[in-house]
Amino acid sequence: MITLKDINKTYPGAAPLHVLKDISLNIGRGELVSIMGASGSGKSTLLNILGILDGYDSGEYWLDGRLIKNLSENRAADLRNRMIGFVFQSFNLISYKDAADNVALPLFYQGVGRRKRRALAMEQLEKLGLADRAHHLPGELSGGQKQRVAIARSLITRPSIILADEPTGALDSRTSKEVMQIFRDLNSQQGMTIAIVTHDPGVGEQTNRIIRISDGRIV
Ligand code: ADP
Ligand code: MG
Repeated sequence: MITLKDINKTYPGAAPLHVLKDISLNIGRGELVSIMGASGSGKSTLLNILGILDGYDSGEYWLDGRLIKNLSENRAADLRNRMIGFVFQSFNLISYKDAADNVALPLFYQGVGRRKRRALAMEQLEKLGLADRAHHLPGELSGGQKQRVAIARSLITRPSIILADEPTGALDSRTSKEVMQIFRDLNSQQGMTIAIVTHDPGVGEQTNRIIRISDGRIV
């Protein structure tokens, strides 16, 4: 599903920072992997490249047989919307929209009509055990519920891969386990390909393979 070959990235500036160094890795279809490393090791930079949110200086990134390199903004956005679901540490929910509208939002950008959006969002919320929370605002939900809403949103477009950046970073350990169980179920029951960035060894242990990164290199 994902192949990186000798990816390098430097953040320019007065003191340029060579943040990713000859990164090569493979993530196969149907894998559940974690990318682990200390704070500042380059995990989020790597995930942003995988998510086509940011570019790289040299090397090759292949996603599902396509070379992801020097894409226009439009092409990048199109591939991102069709292929990738994102989950973030801070949930990134819209505070004045209820859970169902938050889940439905990616469909709005695909031009799906409101009734169909709401119906698909309800279906997705039900699958994640949140049907009774659908009409609540994010401020009325617990941290674990917010992250489940964010996971429902990431799934609504039927992406090929889920990318999660520290998805349990804002949760207590019990809730963190529940959220990891959702990822494990999505992987084992639906064959969803999932890559989770974390600095938490407990989270890494719950994935099927750990890719370790240290100071911008795979170790
Ligand atoms: P991690 O997610 O592993 O904590 P990051 O990928 O966020 O690491 O950051 C790696 C290094 O790159 C850090 O030293 C960070 O300060 C730096 N960095 C991250 N984003 C930028 C940016 N947009 N511009 C300049 N430096 C950045
Ligand atoms: Mg990070």
